[in-house]
Amino acid sequence: MDVRLRERLTAIVGERNALWKPGDLRSYGYDASIERALPEMVVLPQDAQQTAAIVAACREAKVPFVARGAGTGLSGGAIAELGGVVIATVHLNRILEIDDRNLFAVVEPGVVNSGLCAAVAGRGLRYVPDPSSMAACTIGGNVAENSGGLHCLAYGVTANHVLGVELVTAEGDIVWLGGKTRENYGYDLLGAFIGSEGTCGIATKICVRLCPLPAGSKTMLCVFDDIDGASQAVSDIISSGIVPAALEMMDKTATGAIEEFAHAGFPVDAAAILIVEADGPDDVADEITAAVRAVCERNGAREVRIARDAAEAARIWKGRKAAFGAMGRLSANYYVQDGVIPRSRLPQVLRDVEAAGAREGLRIANVFHAGDGNLHPLILFDDRVPGELDGALRAGAEILEACVRNGGSITGEHGVGIEKRDCMPLQFSPDDLALMRRVRATFDPDGSCNPGKIFPTSRRCGESARRVERGEVDPRVARAAGAAF
Ligand SMILES: Cc1cc2nc3c(=O)[nH]c(=O)nc-3n(C[C@H](O)[C@H](O)[C@H](O)COP(=O)(O)OP(=O)(O)OC[C@H]3O[C@@H](n4cnc5c(N)ncnc54)[C@H](O)[C@@H]3O)c2cc1C
Repeated sequence: MDVRLRERLTAIVGERNALWKPGDLRSYGYDASIERALPEMVVLPQDAQQTAAIVAACREAKVPFVARGAGTGLSGGAIAELGGVVIATVHLNRILEIDDRNLFAVVEPGVVNSGLCAAVAGRGLRYVPDPSSMAACTIGGNVAENSGGLHCLAYGVTANHVLGVELVTAEGDIVWLGGKTRENYGYDLLGAFIGSEGTCGIATKICVRLCPLPAGSKTMLCVFDDIDGASQAVSDIISSGIVPAALEMMDKTATGAIEEFAHAGFPVDAAAILIVEADGPDDVADEITAAVRAVCERNGAREVRIARDAAEAARIWKGRKAAFGAMGRLSANYYVQDGVIPRSRLPQVLRDVEAAGAREGLRIANVFHAGDGNLHPLILFDDRVPGELDGALRAGAEILEACVRNGGSITGEHGVGIEKRDCMPLQFSPDDLALMRRVRATFDPDGSCNPGKIFPTSRRCGESARRVERGEVDPRVARAAGAAF
């Protein structure tokens, strides 16, 4: 990196908050995906003004910059693949305002999700979107990825809970999109920013909606000896109009690993379990649990258990949240996919997932937001074994193709980032992609804000893209892709 830029950035944030020695950069070279690349420099600004000055300096020097929260992203979004400067939000971690009369909070982007939840819980409030990574991930990262979570089935994802964002534009200006009240006029620029994966500027303040804590909740564990029965139950619950607060599913491979690790009380011999939460006053929650029980029993559930108390419910949810970490018990590495399908297609697509793993000789554990139709197949592999990583990538591509073929999408909540950019033509035509690029260019005319993310690149042709090119993809998927590439 040019020494003058390094000195200029160091002057903005101070020596302690400017990292450029190789050893210091190493921790910023990865996230929770399988992507890796070292930035040339990392800066840790204290406020929006410093962030704006950093962006202006990078822009002048024509050096790319990448915002980074906690680095828990699963699609390589925070990886500085082209080098340049990582702007880490670790010091932007203040809760600036909690307004419990108007039900909002203003936070800086580096506030950890569970920290915000804890700060408002004492006032009888909650910030709803609760990714399983909530103990580590930041609100800034959640906004950039439009994250979902365990309780987003009934209450909506991050976009439904953000009222406004202060951002540093790619040109170094500080502006607000939205504010502290819901605005329904004009173009929805806030909507365009949320989920833009760090490519449309850097959020420096976020105004989030708060909701009252529910009057009560009941957590159910529904146990199946047959995976088709469990997925059919999910499909039937949704189609019968029941909307639980949460509806999660995991298969035997996942429950076995989790149970050893988190001792959540999961039956390790079951083919699949559903975790269902019903919330509201007792009579409402009872009505929902009774209806869910009936659907599960009709689909062959061998046991339907309702947690006796808050401690048992917390143990069940702790088990669910520990799922990804528990995979370390099964294999050296895992590659998590994030596709969405119509819930009625669950039984078929889960069979496709299993077949994709079998073809590559790899095990796949399934743990996912079933109520949203948001699959998370965890493809288990060992990157020390030649060929296994390639097999995992091929299986991942096949799974995403199955999602699109069944009327779904290549990502539900983890974003496109680097990892899925070459799968975009599976779902979007060249015209769709050109339009998206124009939207992005409106926010970032020079393309220096988190470049290389979301859009397919010819530099690294992913497995799906190669299969589209070779005409190996299912004709319906290829048609959806049009004349991609
Ligand atoms: C075990 C585990 C479980 C997970 N469970 C879920 C889940 O249930 N639901 C879900 O949706 N995700 C889940 N994730 C994925 C991940 O936690 C989310 O995508 C999260 O929102 C990322 O937040 P982060 O702070 O780690 O962001 P990072 O990984 O640091 O960055 C993610 C993206 O956000 C951008 N970004 C970060 N801060 C800003 C900012 N201030 N302004 C603009 N752009 C910014 C980055 O450039 C990058 O593109 C899980 C991950 C793990 C490891």
